[in-house]
Amino acid sequence: QPHITVVGAGLAGSEAAWQAASRGVRVTLYEMRPKVSTAVHRTGLFAELVCSNSLRGASLENAVGLLKEEMRRLGSLVMREALANAVPAGGALAVDRTGFAAGVTAALEQHPNITVVREEVREIPDEGVVVVASGPLTSEPLAAAILRFTGEKALSFYDAAAPIVNIETVNMEKVFRMSRYGKGEGDDYLNCPMTKEEYEAFYQALLSAEKAMPHNPEDERVCFFEGCLPVEEIARRGPDALRYGPMKPVGLIDPRTGRRPWAVVQLRQDNAAGTLYNLVGFQTSLKWGDQIRVFRMIPGLEQAEFERLGVIHRNTFMNSPRLLHPTGESRTRTGLFFAGQMTGVEGYVESAAGGLVAGINAARRALGQEPIAFPRETAIGSLMHYITHADPEHFQPMNIAFGLMPPLEGPTVKDRRARKRMISERALEVLASWAPAALGLPAAAE
Ligand code: FAD
Repeated sequence: QPHITVVGAGLAGSEAAWQAASRGVRVTLYEMRPKVSTAVHRTGLFAELVCSNSLRGASLENAVGLLKEEMRRLGSLVMREALANAVPAGGALAVDRTGFAAGVTAALEQHPNITVVREEVREIPDEGVVVVASGPLTSEPLAAAILRFTGEKALSFYDAAAPIVNIETVNMEKVFRMSRYGKGEGDDYLNCPMTKEEYEAFYQALLSAEKAMPHNPEDERVCFFEGCLPVEEIARRGPDALRYGPMKPVGLIDPRTGRRPWAVVQLRQDNAAGTLYNLVGFQTSLKWGDQIRVFRMIPGLEQAEFERLGVIHRNTFMNSPRLLHPTGESRTRTGLFFAGQMTGVEGYVESAAGGLVAGINAARRALGQEPIAFPRETAIGSLMHYITHADPEHFQPMNIAFGLMPPLEGPTVKDRRARKRMISERALEVLASWAPAALGLPAAAE
């Protein structure tokens, strides 16, 4: 019987094991907990949610809602157990974390095709088809082995991410395109200019905003040391520190005033389609609600929708644009797959989605078939496309967002909610027509 090995029974590894086992492939699933734990896990259960108990928005006007629906239709175990253990959470899907993790654990332990081994894996298994899904807190020996496999520059240990905005929500009348001193194309950046008064108000708001508790104080110390100082920390160094740092206005002339602004926030394109822009140098550990409130004080961003907010935590993630195919398979070793947060997706659902792709494709390899990339029109396909095609120089973990998906064809639909619904409907139609032939399993009906 064809066989694969899965390393790590978190969100991604659990889903990968399930998908492969559902296809008649034998799976050996390694999980080091409870013998060896991580800084954030508390139990020995599979698919433990280490922080929030929310799998985020449930509606199809929400990209993560679409991602979940695609997974549900593809027989996802994570989705089955999430829905079975849902707790009231308004428009979001939140779960009873223990019921959810216990449900996933029982389903995998009882599956006739799955053998669970509670051992730490210290090397990448060098034989057969393998899915490595050991997460952002991969144990030291395995992290070192992955580092040797990928090369030093291809693995980051700290994730200090700046927020990303959807360009459609930026007020272009208030911003101007220009590179500092006209370098590059001359108009690579979008600049949000501030007057002295606006800067002072922003500075005060930043100082008084609330910081999220560091998950691990050690993370913060090392991160600061490594030079990815959060904006709020820079602000704390004095009223002008930001004007000499990420908000410096030198080399920029606002064409509407003919003068240099007092301070500037620069936005840099973040994806090839030009739909997403990140706030340059604005990595932050402020609470998400405070980030939205404070960053909307930036001229032009008053109505901005953030596709990702800033985060700082220890996070082992690979430079997937250099290392992986959109099927989750390594570019250099056939039959070796990676999945989950370590591939540069961000979030529980995104990690499980990566596990679904790797599990299906590892099973295909074991069965002598070629791995298959999901269609770009689907949220799963667009997420995998993003992490394998983003700019490798600035690669940072990413949540699913409509901005990652191909725009609709035909005349522009003005209403944004209607447009999101249409992108979701298109995704589910493409999935329904593609999945049965491509994946050999019928996509579940609505
Ligand atoms: P994990 O779920 O961590 O699974 C990896 C598994 O591999 C673990 O069970 C681990 O024990 C095991 N393992 C590790 N090394 C080995 C080894 N050598 N041998 C055998 N087994 C091994 N996302 C959200 O959506 N919401 C949040 O609130 C959230 N909070 C987070 C807080 C922190 C502190 C961190 C680090 C991340 C957070 N994330 C959050 C991001 C992400 O969604 C989670 O980390 C998610 O669990 C990633 O899924 P995964 O399967 O990639 O990794």
